[in-house]
Amino acid sequence: MIQERVSLAGKTTMRIGGTARFFAEVRTREDAEQAWAFSQEENIPLIALGSGSNTIFADGVINAVVVRIGADEVETNAKCKMPARPTVGSDGQNAKCLTVQAGKNLPMLINDCAAQGLDLSPLTGIPGTVGGAIVGNAGQGPTGIWIDSFVRSVTVFQSGAWKEMPREACGFGYRHSVFKEAAYAGAIVWETLLCVPRGEPAQIQETIEQLLRKRIGTQPHRKTAGSVFKAHGKTPAWQLIDAAGLRGLHIGGVRITEKHANFLENTGEGTFDDAMAIIDRVRGTVQEPLDIEMRFYGEEGRISE
Ligand SMILES: Cc1cc2nc3c(=O)[nH]c(=O)nc-3n(C[C@H](O)[C@H](O)[C@H](O)COP(=O)(O)OP(=O)(O)OC[C@H]3O[C@@H](n4cnc5c(N)ncnc54)[C@H](O)[C@@H]3O)c2cc1C
Repeated sequence: MIQERVSLAGKTTMRIGGTARFFAEVRTREDAEQAWAFSQEENIPLIALGSGSNTIFADGVINAVVVRIGADEVETNAKCKMPARPTVGSDGQNAKCLTVQAGKNLPMLINDCAAQGLDLSPLTGIPGTVGGAIVGNAGQGPTGIWIDSFVRSVTVFQSGAWKEMPREACGFGYRHSVFKEAAYAGAIVWETLLCVPRGEPAQIQETIEQLLRKRIGTQPHRKTAGSVFKAHGKTPAWQLIDAAGLRGLHIGGVRITEKHANFLENTGEGTFDDAMAIIDRVRGTVQEPLDIEMRFYGEEGRISE
């Protein structure tokens, strides 16, 4: 199952990255256990990866086991009778619970749900997997709806053990969960129990299409990895970057896009160092502190922040 020296650039949407020293595609719990045991034997980090739509890797050899989560089954959880959370509908609203494996493509899940009259439309337009969305609590911006609104529990494989964590233990916040914290480095988000409100299929589809149209006008979609920074205060990061005159800044083969000042784009031969140089320039120019939302993995397999 474990492969050596696998190229990573094609596994991220920005198409930037060198080679994983070790790589594995995991589809079963046993695969995940094996990959973890291997990382322990080699004494190197394990990095779980979804679609790479918010991640880039350094350009050299990443001294880690990069594990792409291929498990993508969805099961109806007939036992779950809980209502949808108030944030996604009125309390007590009729809802259906689904157990979704982390490798499931989120846009596909939203469409499959819509066809069954289940409304995940607030998450429209977010690329990537359900696992990546749980880790970053993906959603529509600081005041929008985030995936945690639908989450009941998350099953995680950490330090050789499986555990099911209730939503309350996952530390969800704006683009945050405990799975982003150092204590969960190397953990694999395996599956989640989502509780999705019911709706009229045609109406859900209409909302999805509207949201997609809006995004096409406001966001780039080629060789980008979504938002890079997260602001602390009320002013969004893109506005701070724009006000600092950095929209369009180009370093090497990476630039801040004209369409959205919090998105980077690989203009051809972009490198990890180009992206990091832009990060440094933005942080050195914008007065307000900015956190890094995107994930940058250095050669030692750790996140650079
Ligand atoms: C055009 C565009 C628009 C975007 N718009 C939005 C938006 O509106 N809202 C938003 O929130 N995001 C947005 N993003 C960012 C990105 O799509 C989301 O963050 C998405 O949820 C990432 O999913 P992924 O599977 O690609 O994660 P990856 O990039 O593969 O991984 C992200 C992080 O999670 C970790 N990870 C991934 N899967 C697992 C797992 N199963 N277990 C443990 N760790 C894991 C990785 O190690 C990495 O640290 C956008 C990106 C693009 C390119």
